[in-house]
Amino acid sequence: MKIYKLGEDVLRKKCEPVAQITPEMKDIFNEMFDTMNEAEGVGLAAPQVGISQRFFVAVADDEVRRVFVNPQIIATSAEMTDYEEGCLSLPGFNESIRRPAKIKVQAMDENGKSFTLEADGLLARIIQHEYDHLDGIVYIDRGDPKFAAEVTEKMKKRLERAAKKEAEKAKKAAKIAAKIKAKEEKKNR
Ligand SMILES: [Zn+2]
Repeated sequence: MKIYKLGEDVLRKKCEPVAQITPEMKDIFNEMFDTMNEAEGVGLAAPQVGISQRFFVAVADDEVRRVFVNPQIIATSAEMTDYEEGCLSLPGFNESIRRPAKIKVQAMDENGKSFTLEADGLLARIIQHEYDHLDGIVYIDRGDPKFAAEVTEKMKKRLERAAKKEAEKAKKAAKIAAKIKAKEEKKNR
């Protein structure tokens, strides 16, 4: 799956609730786990793969594959912790972010079964980070505004460079196709 990057609209949209877990969605969950593992991430939210719906997948240090559909964080601890966060949609950047140390989340699993989970440590961190994605929030929004502006600008330039490269590639391909066509027409004459 393509991982969308900061600067692409889907990452800034508030996601819609999931109406029903279909067999196709279970395939999507599996593909998201594969994409996440390949990219060496620990969590991946639906908007990061271009789907504007409220679900994400996570694998914390206990190695359990968890799917959260229509999650709600129903409680947070007063105790806060700092943790160096990164995001597959903003590759190459990291920042220490302060968040509640413990949370309680309610969601549906991949089979549509409701569950409540109390989490701390890495799992609590992943859930809060991924949950934010569903509201169009990325972790830099919760850190130093100067750093956020810097990262946003750098990501914008990166996207522009990538788009330019793509356009050049398309132009080259069109040129080659035109040459081949001209040759064929000559031959057929
Ligand atoms: Zn992220």
